[in-house]
Amino acid sequence: MAKKYKVRVTLDQNLCINCGTCSAIYPKGYGYDETTGKHKVLPPYNEWTEVDEETLNLLKQAETACPVQCIKVYVEEADEDK
Ligand code: SF4
Repeated sequence: MAKKYKVRVTLDQNLCINCGTCSAIYPKGYGYDETTGKHKVLPPYNEWTEVDEETLNLLKQAETACPVQCIKVYVEEADEDK
């Protein structure tokens, strides 16, 4: 019974220096935004979404590693799998 979490991730592009650390850690969660020249949170993680612990850890690793701390990972515990 893997634990599930509800997460939503925000990224302040005004602060992002486009270093690419977040997308190197978790390319499914963070990517280059051609319209702004910065990085962005990729769907579905920009909205509340259910993830497993491994995904949560990757999203949070990027939050921790971002040199300007412009990533925020909001977490709620969801029901466990039946
Ligand atoms: S790690 Fe932070 S500064 Fe670097 S690209 Fe990602 S959001 Fe931007």
